[in-house]
Formats: sequence, structure tokens, C-alpha cells
Amino acid sequence: MMFRRFLTSIISVLLIIVIITAYIKYHTLQHVYAGLDQNSGDTTMVNQINKTDKEWQESLTDEQYRVLRQCGTEPPYSGKYYDFDGEGQYLCAACGNVLFSSETKYHSGSGWPSFYDVIDESNVKTQEDHSLGMKRIEVLCASCGSHLGHVFPDGPNPTGLRYCINSVALNFKSTQKSDSTHQK
Ligand SMILES: [Zn+2]
Repeated sequence: MMFRRFLTSIISVLLIIVIITAYIKYHTLQHVYAGLDQNSGDTTMVNQINKTDKEWQESLTDEQYRVLRQCGTEPPYSGKYYDFDGEGQYLCAACGNVLFSSETKYHSGSGWPSFYDVIDESNVKTQEDHSLGMKRIEVLCASCGSHLGHVFPDGPNPTGLRYCINSVALNFKSTQKSDSTHQK
């Protein structure tokens, strides 16, 4: 009898801890999403690119078109940048808009290139994505509206964000200066 009572109190305590954790997490999420929503409207500095669907199809590879224009996702661990550590900037593969820096890139273990921040908040847009039965925040290029990936609130400091971006949506531009002319 004593043991059963002991067990009941342990379970009660655990239950309270779980509820408190869930409550805190929910409020953190709300805070992060509220912050993202505020950023999403700020696109004043970005040139808008408007192409027809046919023009996009012609200017992109099949895989780029599927990811960028049809909200596709490349298979994890398949992209050219998830395990890549070059110093430079990542541009939108559809329009060349500057999006991410190697300085905020980190290895998240997700299988996709991950960044904890963008170069300029006005260069990306975010919006809620309810596909696949999940509530996620979609990241789009503010210049051409192409789908880049998603942002999650489980990234490292200082932002706590994880921009999970498809390699195929990015083009890397190195900023490393070569010392002699034959290094190309
Ligand atoms: Zn773009």
C-alpha cells in the first residue's frame, strides 16, 4: 500500500513537470512566431521579381523548379551544402538575392544546410505552412517569392532559430580571396 501511494505521488509530480514544460515551450513558440510575423511584412528594401511559371520552368533545373517554385524538399543528406564549410554568402538560386552567410551556418545534424540567422531580415519572407499535418514556418525569398525551406525555434544562440534550407535553393558565392592569380 505504501509503495502504491509513493508511486502515485511520483507520477503526479512528473505530470506537473510535463505540464509546466509544455506551457513554457508553448509560450516560447508563440514569442518566436510573433517575432517572425513582424519580420515578414518588412520587404521595403528588396526588388521584386515577377516571372511567369513558364519562365521559371525554363530558367531553373527540374529539381530547382520542384523545390523553389512548388514548395518541394530535397532528400536529407543529399544536397551539396549540408556538409559544406566554405566562407562566403548563400544567394537565392532563382534570383541571386543575398540570403545567408557562412558565419551563421552550423551543423544541425538535420541533413539540410542550417543557419541561425539571415544576412538581412528584409531579404526573406516567412509565412505559416500547414502542409503535411504540421504547423511550420515557411521561409521564402523576399525578392522572387521562391520557397527556400522552413525556420524552427530549436536553433542555437543568439537567435534560437534554425533556418533549415534546401541546398538546391541556394548558390554559394565564396568571399575567400585567392593570394595568386593561378588559384582559380
Ligand atoms: Zn529569390
